[in-house]
Amino acid sequence: ANALFSSLGTTIFETMSRLAQQHGAVNLGQGFPEDLEPAAVIAAAAAAVQAGPHQYPSMMGTPALRQAVAAANRRFYGLDVDWQTEVMVTSGATEALADCLFGLIEPGDEVVLIEPLYDSYLPIVKRAGGIPKLVRLSPPHWDLPRAALAAAFSDRTKLILLNSPMNPCAKVFDEDELAFVAGLLEKHDAYAVCDEVYEHLTFDDRRHVPLMTLPGMRERCVRIGSAGKTFSVTSWKVGYVTAPAHLMQAIAKTHQFITFTTPTALQTAVAAGLGFGDDYFDGLAADMQARRDRLAEGLRSVGFDVLAAPGTYFITTDVRPLGWTGGDADFCLRLTTEAGVAAVPVSAFYAGDAPSHYVRFCFAKNDAALDEAVSRMRRFF
Ligand code: PMP
Ligand code: GLN
Repeated sequence: ANALFSSLGTTIFETMSRLAQQHGAVNLGQGFPEDLEPAAVIAAAAAAVQAGPHQYPSMMGTPALRQAVAAANRRFYGLDVDWQTEVMVTSGATEALADCLFGLIEPGDEVVLIEPLYDSYLPIVKRAGGIPKLVRLSPPHWDLPRAALAAAFSDRTKLILLNSPMNPCAKVFDEDELAFVAGLLEKHDAYAVCDEVYEHLTFDDRRHVPLMTLPGMRERCVRIGSAGKTFSVTSWKVGYVTAPAHLMQAIAKTHQFITFTTPTALQTAVAAGLGFGDDYFDGLAADMQARRDRLAEGLRSVGFDVLAAPGTYFITTDVRPLGWTGGDADFCLRLTTEAGVAAVPVSAFYAGDAPSHYVRFCFAKNDAALDEAVSRMRRFF
């Protein structure tokens, strides 16, 4: 037999978290929040575990959560969504992405991807037989290179994978940029898979606009959300997909062979959370914004150049002002093992050669962790 197996590598998040643990580093690498889990959502999960049922829920998700996702689409974005044919629950956005890409891409289809890109995109697109067409944003403002984006589309383009707010660079696409993307989708009769897991994490009065809300885009877009991000419970792995029925059929076919279902009690709790008042969603963004500002100020005091972060829970820094001339991976290795602070090299979010002087920090941590990280770095540099 052919002894060659998957050539997939280990994700940078696992690598850096393991290293952080080995060296007792404050972990600002892997993106997960601290001390923000809403008590009512945790209580709802506990009660639902006690109450049962404990057997397979409906493959598409519990009616309560699908209805809650449809209601949230209406409430936040004015989208009219049929919960029975246009909403599906998945085991995290990670599964939702795999379902969408395996469900919609046929071998040989071209797929437009924007660098820097989240680590699961490229491996899944390739395994689905898609041909990646990569377009790079230009730092430090992460501007969309419109001519290059237009050139990446062709009559073989099946879809674009669009992440806004965007991990790792924290860009939030504005309506003008989205309208440009929409024009390309119409021109080339293509679709968009929109990874919107950070939809409720935008700051400074920026609002997240789903591509699906633009004229003509309702039938061409798939939207992915994550309870991990919206309710700060990343271990739960509850995600949700909103898509027009003709696309959902193909996506659901994949879901049935990947996880089939997601724990009922967690779905029940997430449905309760989506029903929270505006104070919850506004409060989450305000809290995260305060954490961003705290870490940004600390990083500046250490000597980093801090790039704008209008969304997500990540700050990108330029490490050159610190006098560092090596690569970002070596920087993160030394920062973790010698300074005791873990971060993630932004070059890990590129397919080929990449800028190597950007480092990503997660600010979704408690004040003590952020302050400790900054004081360790002050001592080190
Ligand atoms: N997409 C992006 C851009 C992410 O940052 C993450 C996780 N941090 C995911 C998808 C995966 O989300 P989940 O944990 O719900 O699988
Ligand atoms: N999405 C998170 C990040 O960007 C981590 C998710 C993971 O570890 N796979 O850090």
